[in-house]
Amino acid sequence: MTSLAQALYLLAAVLFVLSLAGLSKQTTARRGTVLGMVGMGLALAATVLLSLEASRRPVLVTGLLIALVLAIGAVAGTWRARSVEMTQMPEMIAVLHSFVGLAAVLVGYGSWLTEEADVVHGVEVYLGVLIGAVTLTGSVVAYLKLAAKIRTAPLVLPGRNLLNLGALVASAGLMVWFLATNGAVPLVLMTVVALALGWHLVASIGGGDMPVVVSMLNSYSGWAAAAAGFMLGNDLLIVTGALVGSSGAILSYLMCKAMNRSFLSVILGGFGVEAGTSAAGAADGEHREMSAADVAELLADARSVVVTPGYGMAVAKAQYPVAELVSRLRATGVEVRFGVHPVAGRLPGHMNVLLAEARVPYDIVLEMDEINDDLAETDVVLVIGANDTVNPAALDDPGSPIAGMPVLEVWKARQVVVFKRSMATGYAGVQNPLFFRENTAMLFGDAKTQVEAILAALPVPAAH
Ligand code: NDP
Repeated sequence: MTSLAQALYLLAAVLFVLSLAGLSKQTTARRGTVLGMVGMGLALAATVLLSLEASRRPVLVTGLLIALVLAIGAVAGTWRARSVEMTQMPEMIAVLHSFVGLAAVLVGYGSWLTEEADVVHGVEVYLGVLIGAVTLTGSVVAYLKLAAKIRTAPLVLPGRNLLNLGALVASAGLMVWFLATNGAVPLVLMTVVALALGWHLVASIGGGDMPVVVSMLNSYSGWAAAAAGFMLGNDLLIVTGALVGSSGAILSYLMCKAMNRSFLSVILGGFGVEAGTSAAGAADGEHREMSAADVAELLADARSVVVTPGYGMAVAKAQYPVAELVSRLRATGVEVRFGVHPVAGRLPGHMNVLLAEARVPYDIVLEMDEINDDLAETDVVLVIGANDTVNPAALDDPGSPIAGMPVLEVWKARQVVVFKRSMATGYAGVQNPLFFRENTAMLFGDAKTQVEAILAALPVPAAH
C-alpha cells in the first residue's frame, strides 16, 4: 500500500509541474488546469490510502471519518466555486491563503504536542508556526483591503521599520529559547509576535503595491505548506509547497519589475518608501463628456482602435459586449487591439481571463510593453473601467503614491474615451489627470450598458 501511495505521490508531483508549465500560456492554460486537477485527485487518493494504513482505529471507522471530511470540504468548495463572482476572486484567494497559514499553525501545535522533541523537529515546528502565522494575518488584511472593508492607503506607524525589525529579532531570540526548552511560553509568544508582524507587513503596503503583496502571500502560503509537509513527514506536501512558494516568489519578482518597485522594499512592508504626498483631489480641471452615440460615430470613422480594460470592466461584466464591439469593428476593417497592463484588475492575468472568457482572439491581446509605442499612432483608445493603470501622474508626479509605475500611455492617442461611472479615483486612491486632458472625453455610466448603447448606435455594415 505504502509503495503504491508513494508512486501516486510521484505521479501527482510530476502532474503539478506539468500543470504549472501549462498555465504559463493562454493556449495551454486549460490543459494545465486539468493536469492540476488530476494530480490533486491522485494526491488525495494516496493520502487516503496512507491514512487508512496508519490508522489505529478500525479501517471502516477511519474510512467513514475521511469520507465525512471529504464530503464537507467538497460541498463547501463546490458551493463557493459556483457562487463566487469573478470580481470576488482576489478576495477569495486571499482567504484561501489564510487557511493555509492557519493549517500550518495548527499542524505545528499538533506536532509539538504529539511528537518527540528534538532540535530538527523543534526547528520544523517553530518555522512552520512562524510562517503560518505571518501568512494567516497578512492574508486576512489583504482580504479586507481587496474587499474594500478597510482603507487601502498604507498604515504608517511611527518607526514602522524598527517595529518589523524588532519582531524579527524577538522571533530569533524566542527560537533559541524554544529549542533549548521545547516550552509552550516561547512558542505562544512567537505566535503572537508573528501574527502581529503579518498584519503590520501587509497593512503598511499601499493600494498600488497590493498585487505584489497578493502574490507574495501566495508564496508564503506555499512555504507554510512545505513546512507542514516536513512536520507531517509528507513528501508531496513538501514538493507542492515548494512549487507554490517558488512560483509565487518568481511572480512577485516579475510584478515588482513590471511596476518598477523594489522587491525587498515590498516584502519588508514598504521599507525605504516614503508614503506618497499627492492624493485624491490633487488633479482637477474641466472634463469633457461624450454620449454613446458620439462614441459610435467616432469609432465608425476610426482606422485604429486600442481598448485598455481595467477593474471596472470586470465589475460591469462588460467583456462580452466589448468583445462584440471589437468583432463588429474588425469586420468593417478597423484595426482593433487590446492593451493589458500587468496589474490591471485585481489579480495577475485578470483581464486576460475575462477576455478569453468572451472569446477575444489571443493574438490581438497585447501587453503594455508591446502596445505602448503604437499608442501615438492610434486614432481612438477606449479605456474601459481602467484608472490607475492609465494614470499619467505615475510618470509626471514624483510625489504620487503610484510614482514610477509604468502605465499605458493612452493620452498619446488622437482621442481617448474613458468609460466609468463618476470622477472617483481608482484603487490606489489617486486622482487621474488623464480625465482633464484636451483629447480625453468621459463616457459616464456602467461600462456594459454604455458599450451596448454604442453597439446599438453603430451603423450596421452593408450586406455584401
Ligand atoms: P482601478 O481599480 O484603478 O479603477 C477601476 C475603475 O473602474 C474605477 O475608477 C471605477 O470608477 C471604474 N468602475 C467600477 N465599476 C464600474 C462599472 N460598473 N462601469 C464602469 N466603470 C466602473 O483599475 P485598474 O485596473 O486601472 O487598476 C488596478 C488597480 O488595482 C491598481 O492600482 C493595482 O495596483 C491594484 N491591484 C491590482 C491587483 C492585480 O493583481 N492586478 C491586485 C490588487 C490590487 P467609477 O467608480 O467612477 O465607476
